[in-house]
Amino acid sequence: MGSGALESGVLIEVSAGRIASLQAGSAPGDAVVLDGLVIPGLANAHSHAFHRALRGATQLGGGTFWTWRETMYRVAAALTPDEYLELARAVYAEMALAGITCVGEFHYLHHAPGGVAYDDPNAMGEALIEAAAQAGIRITLLDTCYLSSGFGAPPDETQLRFSDGSGEAWAERVSGLKERDHARVGAAVHSVRAVPADQLGVVGAWAAQRHAPIHAHVSEQPAENEGCLAAYGVTPTRLLADHGLLGPRTTAVHATHLTPQDIALLGGSATTVCMCPTTERDLADGIGPAREVQAAGSPLSLGSDSQAVIDLFEEARAMELNERLRTRRRGHWTADALLRAATADGHASLGWPEAGTLKVGALADLVTISLDSVRTAGSLSSVRTAGSLGSVRSAGPLDSPRAAGPPHGPETAVFAATSADVSDVVAGGRVIVRRGIHQLVPDVAGALRQALARVAS
Ligand SMILES: [Zn+2]
Repeated sequence: MGSGALESGVLIEVSAGRIASLQAGSAPGDAVVLDGLVIPGLANAHSHAFHRALRGATQLGGGTFWTWRETMYRVAAALTPDEYLELARAVYAEMALAGITCVGEFHYLHHAPGGVAYDDPNAMGEALIEAAAQAGIRITLLDTCYLSSGFGAPPDETQLRFSDGSGEAWAERVSGLKERDHARVGAAVHSVRAVPADQLGVVGAWAAQRHAPIHAHVSEQPAENEGCLAAYGVTPTRLLADHGLLGPRTTAVHATHLTPQDIALLGGSATTVCMCPTTERDLADGIGPAREVQAAGSPLSLGSDSQAVIDLFEEARAMELNERLRTRRRGHWTADALLRAATADGHASLGWPEAGTLKVGALADLVTISLDSVRTAGSLSSVRTAGSLGSVRSAGPLDSPRAAGPPHGPETAVFAATSADVSDVVAGGRVIVRRGIHQLVPDVAGALRQALARVAS
């Protein structure tokens, strides 16, 4: 199957968590039948799990990005490793229900209140890795260096929990994290506000030594650009470039307020740009130049970031629809291109290049979108998709006598479906969601309710 091709009745054999073969037009036999449109697992390339506690609450009374951040800090101030495990397990289970098979967790809540190290200095990161295991998904823990409150200012009370004191101390702590089958470790620079220029190279060198991904929030707010220009005389993108941090292993998150030179630097270095449209619109950040950075050479990925919603179909279509509003022109990306950002390019930005495509040798991550929900019915009337461990079938309309009109599978997925239409999810060959029910966390809403009540108390 070529990329973007829609085929009917595909038997997918899985061995050791990977796709062993794909055969179109096969009989399902005793395979698990996946009824609907089957796409690769989705990669949520930018997440802060604990922000889930802010959903709804931060919509009261307006406010700004900076007042939103104060509310977020109140949640951050209270979390313990046990509470974080319970909360993140529920949030990652919500992601699994939405078809997300890998999360990039941009993790900066490292230490106990006051900045005191836990007995295991990586207790919070370990809680996130364990939470992903319990929810059945993979994680790239993007352990985040966070040292200052602003350009030259020391961390405030809450930020003491984020800070290791120096780049070297950050590197020493992060080196203690062990990778597992479902977990890889990457680096992050919180932002040029939070990491002084003379520490950027330490983080970059740590990641380079390990060929690990490195992510950074870049130019989400104009105030960050102004502060950076005042402190260093260059833009945040230029500062990262000057310290060797841009390149194919790097992801710039948001990249909302860029100069033409910034766009050339990001594209020319093949740095991925991660757009988080539902968060960017929630926080009134603005619309980043996704079209321009991609044209300049940057792959695109997508993230739920603040968890205002967890729905990568919504992130994907929002990127296109934002661009339509900005330019008053349609058709900036095809549905296939938008899905590629949500799958293959997202996984690659998290250091899992073997995931996010339906081909032999790839990790067997499969997401089935129901095509008989009120949102999707009629778009691909003939699809009978089948799947299982040992075999998975995915199907298009071409072999069906009921087929009417051209198939619109990817278009339906991106422009009409929501995360609620995800019926089955296979991660690494293991069925983690079956007919809308999480197989490891059967009551995800209950788990969220319980975890959030504990955080609020
Ligand atoms: Zn973020």
